[in-house]
Amino acid sequence: MKYISTRGEQIDNASKVILNGIANDGGLYVPSSFPTITPQEIEEMIGFEYEKRASHILSKFLTDYTYEELMEYVQKAYKKFDGEPAPLVKVDDNTYMLELWHGPTLAFKDMALTVLPYLLMGARKKDGIDKKTLILVATSGDTGKAALEGFKDVEGAEIIVFYPNEGVSLMQKLQMQTTEGKNVHVVGIEGNFDDAQNAVKDVFDDGEMRKKLFDKGYMLSSANSINFGRLVPQIVYYVSAYVDLLGSGEIENGDQINIAVPSGNFGNILAAYYAYRMGLPIKHLIVASNQNNVLTDFFNSGEYDINREFYKTISPSMDILISSNLERLLFEFADRDSGIIRELMAELKNSGRYQIDQEKLSQKFPQFLGYYSTEEETFEVIDNFFEQCDYLLDPHTAVGVSAYFKYISDTLDTDTPAVVVSTANPYKFPQDVYYALTKVQEDDPIKSLKKLQSYTGIKAPQAIAGLDDKPLNHDLVVPKSKIKDTILKLLKKEDNNE
Ligand SMILES: *Cc1c(COP(=O)(O)O)cnc(C)c1O
Repeated sequence: MKYISTRGEQIDNASKVILNGIANDGGLYVPSSFPTITPQEIEEMIGFEYEKRASHILSKFLTDYTYEELMEYVQKAYKKFDGEPAPLVKVDDNTYMLELWHGPTLAFKDMALTVLPYLLMGARKKDGIDKKTLILVATSGDTGKAALEGFKDVEGAEIIVFYPNEGVSLMQKLQMQTTEGKNVHVVGIEGNFDDAQNAVKDVFDDGEMRKKLFDKGYMLSSANSINFGRLVPQIVYYVSAYVDLLGSGEIENGDQINIAVPSGNFGNILAAYYAYRMGLPIKHLIVASNQNNVLTDFFNSGEYDINREFYKTISPSMDILISSNLERLLFEFADRDSGIIRELMAELKNSGRYQIDQEKLSQKFPQFLGYYSTEEETFEVIDNFFEQCDYLLDPHTAVGVSAYFKYISDTLDTDTPAVVVSTANPYKFPQDVYYALTKVQEDDPIKSLKKLQSYTGIKAPQAIAGLDDKPLNHDLVVPKSKIKDTILKLLKKEDNNE
């Protein structure tokens, strides 16, 4: 299988795609066509464990890896999980939570970021690259820690994570700053997520900087959700959820399901759309946003406009105005005409907005519906859901549930089974979850974690409960203008150590 850039000037095979992250023309890689999954295959997969389901789907896309290689990567990756990687939990007659937070950092990013380092190192070997791989990551909170855990102490890789100093939760910051490992660096950027993301993009776009890094022995690569190696492992759990519903007799083979996804950079829900394109019977894809509701407006009006107030919410991993992965959906909207994509992306860069035809948008993508949740509604849903379903939601997942409830009252579609994607464990955001239940504001994340435990009787995972005993290894914060100097300095220090 070949991969093409959404901007039309590049075509590569899977290993190159994973090494490059982003295409040289600035576009995102997409598969030249979508492989299919038949009802018979879905039936067969009932008997497969998750790792086998994953290798099966991955091998359809990543054709220059062998099935055995992929199986090995997936097994190594999901060994880092606590039990099943992606269990489906029934919360009422027709609603199921797809829990994607059983990995080492308690958020769904682990599903792909535990696999990506193996894909990347495999690609490096295949392409005979002797340079070290330098991973640069901009994070809105969860990607950073997941990438650090995925890449730490991986031979041949060095990772630097940039987070917005004012834009991540205290717990997320603590998780990142306490990371161990010889090849990891964590740096705060003064600004919000888009500032951090733009600063990192700028490094990738700077030929001179790339040359400097190359001379030092490094080749740049990205672990951000634009890397296609992040998307494929995410397609797997949508297929797996369907297989589970079928296996437990909740649906018949061929029945449609709805899927609601708390969205930010649009990577997770795009993977669900790719599963749909492979043939998974999906009726609606509910794009759930928080108060930064640029995606809701886009699906309702066809206008994408980032000239608006940026809100810091209790679901920080969704505080994003530029949803990078939307470019891949636009590519399908434009019937894969890269000229249209180049125009739209130039408009976005120059004026911060673009408009596409709303009627064509809803004709082309009838399955996509956008809803958003205000902060007040998100708090309320956490409280009510715990009361009524005895299920504790994190704020991101609560945005997903809130959007799903709005979908129900809009469409009265209570008959279609719905999978709501649960993207983080509630103990990753203990202050806000505790506040939602008690209306008591506790500012210390570890104290609130303990209070939340005794209030709910639900135990916090060990990965997070022990954080306060760990030393802060990384406390550097720099202005975004200093990002390139900082990278060179950090790597220099590294060289001296050796
Ligand atoms: C990253 C993240 C999201 C948003 O996912 P996208 O793929 O960026 O749309 C939602 N919830 C949590 C907990 C996340 O970490």
